[in-house]
Amino acid sequence: MARNAIQFQKGLSEVAFQGNYGTEAQCETVLETMRWPHGFVCPECGAAKGHRLDSRNLYQCASCRRQTSLTAGTIFEHTKLPLSIWFRGMYHLTQSKNGVSAMELMRRTSGSLRSRAQQDKATLSF
Ligand SMILES: [Zn+2]
Repeated sequence: MARNAIQFQKGLSEVAFQGNYGTEAQCETVLETMRWPHGFVCPECGAAKGHRLDSRNLYQCASCRRQTSLTAGTIFEHTKLPLSIWFRGMYHLTQSKNGVSAMELMRRTSGSLRSRAQQDKATLSF
């Protein structure tokens, strides 16, 4: 009988997840790298030069001076929750073979994702 490759995926351990995505800074770095793999690109004018305003946690275009956040234009736009909570929720949703209930997700994120979902009246599905 052939071995099902999907069923025997390697997965990501809790220890590895915590090591790679355990802090807010790590999550921001991952999102920044995924959003701008070759460095910042202004969403307004397309200029590839800008800098981070650490005091306001924004990026400013060197050409048109538009300020944009790391999460603007992503699925995390307007979130009040830290990226580390979202990453933890995504981890649990994707690592469980049988899915994760909303109650389980709430327990694993200390209620953060449930509270936000109730505010938005949205369902959690990725
Ligand atoms: Zn610009």
